[in-house]
Amino acid sequence: MFDLTPISEWLETNGKPAIISGPCSAETEEQVLKTAELLSQSGMVHALRAGIWKPRTRPDTFEGVGEIGLKWLQKAKANTGLKTAVEVANGKHVEAALNHDIDILWIGARTTVNPFSVQEIADALKGVDIPVMVKNPINPDLGLWIGAIERVHKSGTNKIAAIHRGFSQYSESKYRNVPQWEIPIELKRLIPQISLICDPSHIGGKRNMIEEISQKALDLNYSGLMIESHITPDEAWSDREQQVTPDTLVEIFASLTTRNSGVTDPLLEHNLEELREKIDAIDDNLLELLSTRMNVAEEIGRYKGQHNMTILQTERWNEILQRAMRKSTEKGLSKDFIQKYFNAIHQESINHQVTVMNEQKKSSKTEQNS
Ligand code: PEP
Ligand code: MN
Repeated sequence: MFDLTPISEWLETNGKPAIISGPCSAETEEQVLKTAELLSQSGMVHALRAGIWKPRTRPDTFEGVGEIGLKWLQKAKANTGLKTAVEVANGKHVEAALNHDIDILWIGARTTVNPFSVQEIADALKGVDIPVMVKNPINPDLGLWIGAIERVHKSGTNKIAAIHRGFSQYSESKYRNVPQWEIPIELKRLIPQISLICDPSHIGGKRNMIEEISQKALDLNYSGLMIESHITPDEAWSDREQQVTPDTLVEIFASLTTRNSGVTDPLLEHNLEELREKIDAIDDNLLELLSTRMNVAEEIGRYKGQHNMTILQTERWNEILQRAMRKSTEKGLSKDFIQKYFNAIHQESINHQVTVMNEQKKSSKTEQNS
Protein backbone atom coordinates (compact mmCIF):
# COMPACT_ATOMS: atom_id res chain seq x y z
CA MET A 1 0.00 0.00 0.00
CA PHE A 2 2.79 2.44 0.85
CA ASP A 3 6.51 2.59 1.07
CA LEU A 4 7.88 2.15 4.62
CA THR A 5 11.42 1.83 5.96
CA PRO A 6 11.79 -1.10 8.38
CA ILE A 7 12.69 -0.39 12.01
CA SER A 8 15.84 -2.53 11.60
CA GLU A 9 17.16 0.25 9.38
CA TRP A 10 16.34 3.25 11.52
CA LEU A 11 17.45 1.55 14.73
CA GLU A 12 20.37 -0.21 13.04
CA THR A 13 19.61 -3.54 14.68
CA ASN A 14 21.90 -5.65 12.50
CA GLY A 15 19.20 -8.18 11.72
CA LYS A 16 18.28 -8.66 15.40
CA PRO A 17 14.88 -7.81 16.88
CA ALA A 18 14.72 -4.11 17.82
CA ILE A 19 14.71 -3.65 21.58
CA ILE A 20 13.27 -0.47 23.04
CA SER A 21 13.34 -0.25 26.81
CA GLY A 22 13.17 2.22 29.66
CA PRO A 23 10.80 3.32 32.38
CA CYS A 24 7.06 3.70 31.97
CA SER A 25 7.61 7.27 33.19
CA ALA A 26 10.62 9.50 33.61
CA GLU A 27 10.52 10.30 37.33
CA THR A 28 13.83 11.90 38.30
CA GLU A 29 17.00 12.80 36.44
CA GLU A 30 18.93 10.21 38.41
CA GLN A 31 16.43 7.45 37.58
CA VAL A 32 16.53 8.23 33.84
CA LEU A 33 20.34 8.45 33.71
CA LYS A 34 20.91 5.30 35.77
CA THR A 35 18.39 3.27 33.75
CA ALA A 36 19.98 4.46 30.52
CA GLU A 37 23.45 3.55 31.74
CA LEU A 38 22.44 0.01 32.74
CA LEU A 39 20.47 -0.55 29.54
CA SER A 40 23.36 0.69 27.46
CA GLN A 41 25.78 -1.60 29.32
CA SER A 42 23.56 -4.57 28.54
CA GLY A 43 24.50 -4.07 24.89
CA MET A 44 21.12 -5.32 23.69
CA VAL A 45 18.96 -2.19 23.77
CA HIS A 46 18.62 -0.02 20.67
CA ALA A 47 16.57 2.83 22.11
CA LEU A 48 15.63 4.29 25.48
CA ARG A 49 11.95 4.95 26.12
CA ALA A 50 10.35 7.09 28.84
CA GLY A 51 6.90 8.65 29.22
CA ILE A 52 7.01 12.39 29.96
CA TRP A 53 3.31 13.16 29.55
CA LYS A 54 1.28 10.27 30.93
CA PRO A 55 -2.32 9.75 29.86
CA ARG A 56 -3.79 8.30 33.06
CA THR A 57 -7.15 6.63 33.41
CA ARG A 58 -8.04 8.40 36.67
CA PRO A 59 -7.31 11.97 37.81
CA ASP A 60 -5.09 12.66 40.82
CA THR A 61 -2.53 10.10 39.71
CA PHE A 62 0.98 10.91 38.51
CA GLU A 63 0.64 12.51 35.07
CA GLY A 64 4.30 12.72 34.09
CA VAL A 65 7.09 15.18 34.81
CA GLY A 66 6.54 17.20 31.62
CA GLU A 67 9.16 18.95 29.52
CA ILE A 68 11.92 18.77 32.12
CA GLY A 69 12.05 15.03 31.39
CA LEU A 70 13.10 15.78 27.83
CA LYS A 71 16.28 17.37 29.17
CA TRP A 72 17.04 14.23 31.18
CA LEU A 73 16.59 12.13 28.05
CA GLN A 74 18.89 14.44 26.14
CA LYS A 75 21.51 13.94 28.83
CA ALA A 76 20.99 10.17 28.83
CA LYS A 77 21.54 10.14 25.08
CA ALA A 78 24.72 12.22 25.41
CA ASN A 79 26.04 9.87 28.13
CA THR A 80 25.22 6.56 26.47
CA GLY A 81 24.64 7.14 22.77
CA LEU A 82 21.24 5.45 23.04
CA LYS A 83 18.51 6.81 20.80
CA THR A 84 15.56 8.26 22.74
CA ALA A 85 11.81 7.74 22.36
CA VAL A 86 8.86 9.53 23.98
CA GLU A 87 5.09 9.39 23.75
CA VAL A 88 3.36 12.38 22.16
CA ALA A 89 -0.34 13.14 22.36
CA ASN A 90 -0.63 16.53 20.65
CA GLY A 91 1.18 19.03 18.44
CA LYS A 92 2.85 20.82 21.37
CA HIS A 93 4.38 17.56 22.57
CA VAL A 94 5.81 16.96 19.11
CA GLU A 95 7.34 20.43 19.02
CA ALA A 96 8.89 20.08 22.48
CA ALA A 97 10.28 16.63 21.66
CA LEU A 98 11.83 17.87 18.41
CA ASN A 99 13.39 20.82 20.25
CA HIS A 100 15.12 18.34 22.54
CA ASP A 101 16.55 16.09 19.83
CA ILE A 102 14.32 13.14 20.61
CA ASP A 103 14.95 10.45 17.98
CA ILE A 104 11.67 8.53 17.91
CA LEU A 105 8.09 9.45 18.80
CA TRP A 106 5.27 7.13 19.66
CA ILE A 107 1.54 7.70 19.73
CA GLY A 108 -0.12 6.09 22.75
CA ALA A 109 -3.15 3.82 22.69
CA ARG A 110 -5.45 6.48 24.15
CA THR A 111 -4.40 8.92 21.44
CA THR A 112 -4.63 6.55 18.46
CA VAL A 113 -8.39 6.33 19.11
CA ASN A 114 -8.82 10.04 18.41
CA PRO A 115 -8.39 11.11 14.76
CA PHE A 116 -8.35 14.82 15.79
CA SER A 117 -5.30 14.28 18.00
CA VAL A 118 -3.57 12.01 15.50
CA GLN A 119 -4.14 14.59 12.75
CA GLU A 120 -2.76 17.34 14.99
CA ILE A 121 0.36 15.24 15.57
CA ALA A 122 0.65 14.49 11.85
CA ASP A 123 0.36 18.22 11.05
CA ALA A 124 3.14 19.02 13.53
CA LEU A 125 5.29 16.37 11.82
CA LYS A 126 5.11 17.94 8.34
CA GLY A 127 8.57 18.54 6.93
CA VAL A 128 10.31 16.60 9.72
CA ASP A 129 11.85 13.19 9.12
CA ILE A 130 11.45 11.46 12.47
CA PRO A 131 10.39 7.82 13.03
CA VAL A 132 6.93 7.38 14.58
CA MET A 133 5.56 4.27 16.27
CA VAL A 134 1.80 3.99 16.42
CA LYS A 135 0.34 1.96 19.28
CA ASN A 136 -2.88 0.10 18.64
CA PRO A 137 -6.03 1.91 19.83
CA ILE A 138 -7.34 0.66 23.18
CA ASN A 139 -10.40 -0.81 21.44
CA PRO A 140 -9.98 -3.66 18.93
CA ASP A 141 -10.60 -1.48 15.88
CA LEU A 142 -8.13 -2.26 13.10
CA GLY A 143 -9.51 0.52 10.88
CA LEU A 144 -8.69 3.11 13.53
CA TRP A 145 -5.14 1.77 13.85
CA ILE A 146 -4.64 1.84 10.07
CA GLY A 147 -6.19 5.32 9.88
CA ALA A 148 -3.65 6.66 12.39
CA ILE A 149 -0.79 5.05 10.45
CA GLU A 150 -2.12 6.62 7.24
CA ARG A 151 -2.38 10.07 8.82
CA VAL A 152 1.23 9.86 10.04
CA HIS A 153 2.39 8.56 6.67
CA LYS A 154 0.66 11.43 4.88
CA SER A 155 2.71 13.85 6.96
CA GLY A 156 5.67 12.65 4.93
CA THR A 157 7.52 10.10 7.08
CA ASN A 158 8.29 6.59 5.87
CA LYS A 159 9.74 5.48 9.18
CA ILE A 160 6.63 4.08 10.82
CA ALA A 161 6.23 1.04 13.05
CA ALA A 162 3.12 -0.34 14.74
CA ILE A 163 3.22 -1.22 18.44
CA HIS A 164 0.90 -3.98 19.59
CA ARG A 165 0.02 -3.31 23.26
CA GLY A 166 -3.22 -5.28 23.50
CA PHE A 167 -6.86 -4.25 23.82
CA SER A 168 -9.09 -3.23 26.72
CA GLN A 169 -11.96 -5.41 27.69
CA TYR A 170 -14.58 -5.40 30.40
CA SER A 171 -14.46 -9.03 31.47
CA GLU A 172 -11.82 -10.66 33.68
CA SER A 173 -8.70 -11.84 31.91
CA LYS A 174 -5.21 -12.94 32.82
CA TYR A 175 -4.00 -10.09 30.62
CA ARG A 176 -4.08 -6.39 31.44
CA ASN A 177 -4.88 -5.82 27.76
CA VAL A 178 -5.90 -8.89 25.78
CA PRO A 179 -3.51 -9.47 22.88
CA GLN A 180 -5.99 -10.53 20.17
CA TRP A 181 -3.02 -11.54 18.01
CA GLU A 182 -5.26 -11.83 14.96
CA ILE A 183 -5.54 -8.03 14.78
CA PRO A 184 -1.81 -7.21 14.37
CA ILE A 185 -1.51 -10.25 12.07
CA GLU A 186 -4.25 -8.80 9.87
CA LEU A 187 -2.55 -5.38 10.01
CA LYS A 188 0.65 -6.99 8.72
CA ARG A 189 -1.30 -8.76 5.96
CA LEU A 190 -2.83 -5.45 4.86
CA ILE A 191 0.39 -3.40 5.23
CA PRO A 192 3.17 -5.99 4.73
CA GLN A 193 5.89 -3.36 4.98
CA ILE A 194 5.00 -2.27 8.51
CA SER A 195 7.37 -3.30 11.30
CA LEU A 196 5.42 -4.85 14.17
CA ILE A 197 6.70 -4.20 17.69
CA CYS A 198 5.21 -6.02 20.66
CA ASP A 199 4.75 -4.32 24.05
CA PRO A 200 4.48 -7.31 26.40
CA SER A 201 4.57 -5.00 29.45
CA HIS A 202 1.19 -3.43 28.74
CA ILE A 203 -0.32 -6.64 27.34
CA GLY A 204 0.53 -8.72 30.41
CA GLY A 205 0.52 -6.03 33.07
CA LYS A 206 2.74 -8.31 35.17
CA ARG A 207 6.47 -8.81 34.94
CA ASN A 208 6.25 -12.60 35.01
CA MET A 209 4.25 -12.58 31.77
CA ILE A 210 6.79 -10.64 29.70
CA GLU A 211 8.85 -13.62 28.60
CA GLU A 212 5.96 -15.74 27.33
CA ILE A 213 4.35 -12.86 25.42
CA SER A 214 7.70 -11.77 23.94
CA GLN A 215 8.44 -15.31 22.74
CA LYS A 216 5.07 -15.51 21.04
CA ALA A 217 5.74 -12.18 19.30
CA LEU A 218 9.13 -13.39 18.06
CA ASP A 219 7.57 -16.65 16.88
CA LEU A 220 5.12 -14.55 14.89
CA ASN A 221 8.06 -12.75 13.26
CA TYR A 222 7.62 -9.39 15.00
CA SER A 223 10.44 -6.93 14.31
CA GLY A 224 10.99 -5.93 17.91
CA LEU A 225 9.91 -5.51 21.51
CA MET A 226 9.19 -2.53 23.71
CA ILE A 227 9.65 -3.53 27.34
CA GLU A 228 9.35 -1.25 30.37
CA SER A 229 12.34 -1.25 32.71
CA HIS A 230 13.12 0.62 35.91
CA ILE A 231 16.02 0.68 38.36
CA THR A 232 13.64 -0.02 41.26
CA PRO A 233 10.41 -1.32 39.70
CA ASP A 234 8.60 -1.79 43.01
CA GLU A 235 8.93 1.92 43.69
CA ALA A 236 7.91 3.08 40.22
CA TRP A 237 5.44 5.98 40.04
CA SER A 238 3.40 4.24 37.34
CA ASP A 239 2.92 0.66 36.08
CA ARG A 240 4.84 -0.80 38.99
CA GLU A 241 3.87 -4.44 38.57
CA GLN A 242 4.93 -4.75 34.96
CA GLN A 243 8.37 -3.11 35.06
CA VAL A 244 11.60 -5.09 35.36
CA THR A 245 15.16 -4.11 36.26
CA PRO A 246 17.66 -3.87 33.40
CA ASP A 247 19.24 -7.07 34.80
CA THR A 248 15.97 -8.96 34.57
CA LEU A 249 15.53 -7.63 31.05
CA VAL A 250 18.84 -9.23 30.10
CA GLU A 251 17.74 -12.53 31.68
CA ILE A 252 14.43 -12.46 29.85
CA PHE A 253 16.16 -11.74 26.60
CA ALA A 254 18.68 -14.54 27.12
CA SER A 255 15.86 -17.05 27.47
CA LEU A 256 14.10 -16.00 24.28
CA THR A 257 14.61 -17.95 21.08
CA THR A 258 14.88 -15.88 17.95
CA ARG A 259 13.87 -17.75 14.84
CA ASN A 260 14.68 -17.33 11.16
CA SER A 261 11.91 -15.63 9.28
CA GLY A 262 12.89 -16.83 5.83
CA VAL A 263 14.17 -20.33 5.08
CA THR A 264 17.37 -20.49 3.03
CA ASP A 265 18.44 -24.14 3.32
CA PRO A 266 17.01 -26.01 0.26
CA LEU A 267 16.37 -29.23 2.25
CA LEU A 268 14.47 -27.37 4.97
CA GLU A 269 12.58 -25.53 2.28
CA HIS A 270 11.66 -28.80 0.56
CA ASN A 271 10.37 -30.34 3.82
CA LEU A 272 8.39 -27.23 4.58
CA GLU A 273 6.98 -27.18 1.05
CA GLU A 274 5.70 -30.75 1.47
CA LEU A 275 3.99 -29.89 4.73
CA ARG A 276 2.48 -26.77 3.17
CA GLU A 277 1.09 -28.85 0.32
CA LYS A 278 -0.54 -31.10 2.91
CA ILE A 279 -2.08 -28.06 4.59
CA ASP A 280 -3.40 -26.80 1.24
CA ALA A 281 -4.96 -30.18 0.51
CA ILE A 282 -6.61 -30.26 3.96
CA ASP A 283 -7.90 -26.71 3.46
CA ASP A 284 -9.41 -27.75 0.12
CA ASN A 285 -11.16 -30.63 1.88
CA LEU A 286 -12.41 -28.33 4.62
CA LEU A 287 -13.86 -25.94 2.03
CA GLU A 288 -15.50 -28.83 0.20
CA LEU A 289 -17.03 -30.12 3.43
CA LEU A 290 -18.22 -26.67 4.44
CA SER A 291 -19.88 -26.23 1.08
CA THR A 292 -21.59 -29.64 1.43
CA ARG A 293 -22.72 -28.70 4.93
CA MET A 294 -24.27 -25.48 3.61
CA ASN A 295 -26.11 -27.44 0.89
CA VAL A 296 -27.67 -29.59 3.59
CA ALA A 297 -28.49 -26.45 5.60
CA GLU A 298 -30.30 -25.09 2.53
CA GLU A 299 -32.29 -28.32 2.24
CA ILE A 300 -33.27 -27.94 5.88
CA GLY A 301 -34.18 -24.30 5.18
CA ARG A 302 -36.51 -25.36 2.36
CA TYR A 303 -38.10 -28.00 4.59
CA LYS A 304 -38.58 -25.54 7.45
CA GLY A 305 -40.05 -23.03 5.01
CA GLN A 306 -42.54 -25.55 3.63
CA HIS A 307 -43.64 -26.47 7.15
CA ASN A 308 -43.59 -22.90 8.43
CA MET A 309 -40.96 -23.58 11.11
CA THR A 310 -38.52 -21.02 12.56
CA ILE A 311 -34.92 -21.11 11.38
CA LEU A 312 -33.33 -20.84 14.83
CA GLN A 313 -34.08 -23.82 17.02
CA THR A 314 -32.09 -23.12 20.15
CA GLU A 315 -32.29 -26.65 21.54
CA ARG A 316 -30.86 -28.19 18.40
CA TRP A 317 -28.12 -25.57 18.24
CA ASN A 318 -27.17 -26.26 21.86
CA GLU A 319 -27.02 -29.95 21.10
CA ILE A 320 -24.65 -29.38 18.13
CA LEU A 321 -22.40 -27.11 20.16
CA GLN A 322 -22.28 -29.40 23.22
CA ARG A 323 -21.41 -32.37 21.01
CA ALA A 324 -18.60 -30.44 19.34
CA MET A 325 -17.25 -29.19 22.67
CA ARG A 326 -17.19 -32.75 24.05
CA LYS A 327 -15.31 -33.99 21.01
CA SER A 328 -12.91 -31.04 20.96
CA THR A 329 -10.91 -32.25 23.99
CA GLU A 330 -10.51 -35.71 22.44
CA LYS A 331 -9.19 -34.09 19.27
CA GLY A 332 -6.78 -31.74 21.03
CA LEU A 333 -8.70 -28.62 20.02
CA SER A 334 -9.38 -25.80 22.45
CA LYS A 335 -12.96 -25.17 23.56
CA ASP A 336 -12.54 -21.49 22.77
CA PHE A 337 -11.60 -22.27 19.17
CA ILE A 338 -14.43 -24.77 18.70
CA GLN A 339 -16.94 -22.29 20.10
CA LYS A 340 -15.79 -19.56 17.67
CA TYR A 341 -15.60 -21.98 14.73
CA PHE A 342 -19.06 -23.42 15.30
CA ASN A 343 -20.57 -19.99 15.90
CA ALA A 344 -19.23 -18.90 12.51
CA ILE A 345 -20.55 -22.06 10.81
CA HIS A 346 -23.90 -21.67 12.51
CA GLN A 347 -24.20 -18.05 11.40
CA GLU A 348 -23.36 -19.00 7.81
CA SER A 349 -25.95 -21.84 7.92
CA ILE A 350 -28.57 -19.39 9.13
CA ASN A 351 -27.71 -17.00 6.29
CA HIS A 352 -28.12 -19.82 3.74
CA GLN A 353 -31.42 -20.87 5.29
CA VAL A 354 -32.71 -17.28 5.27
CA THR A 355 -31.81 -16.98 1.58
CA VAL A 356 -33.68 -20.14 0.56
CA MET A 357 -36.69 -19.24 2.70
CA ASN A 358 -36.85 -15.77 1.13
CA GLU A 359 -36.64 -17.30 -2.34
CA GLN A 360 -39.46 -19.68 -1.47
CA LYS A 361 -41.57 -16.79 -0.20
CA LYS A 362 -40.91 -14.76 -3.36
CA SER A 363 -41.76 -17.60 -5.71
CA SER A 364 -44.95 -18.48 -3.81
CA LYS A 365 -46.02 -14.81 -4.06
CA THR A 366 -45.37 -14.77 -7.83
CA GLU A 367 -47.37 -17.99 -8.12
CA GLN A 368 -50.27 -16.44 -6.16
CA ASN A 369 -50.17 -13.31 -8.33
CA SER A 370 -50.06 -15.15 -11.64
C1 PEP B 1 3.16 3.55 27.91
O1 PEP B 1 3.81 3.08 26.96
O2 PEP B 1 3.62 3.76 29.03
C2 PEP B 1 1.72 3.80 27.71
C3 PEP B 1 1.07 4.80 28.25
O3 PEP B 1 1.18 2.85 26.97
P1 PEP B 1 -0.26 2.69 26.25
O4 PEP B 1 -0.43 3.90 25.37
O5 PEP B 1 -0.05 1.44 25.50
O6 PEP B 1 -1.27 2.57 27.34
MN1 MN C 1 3.38 2.18 31.13
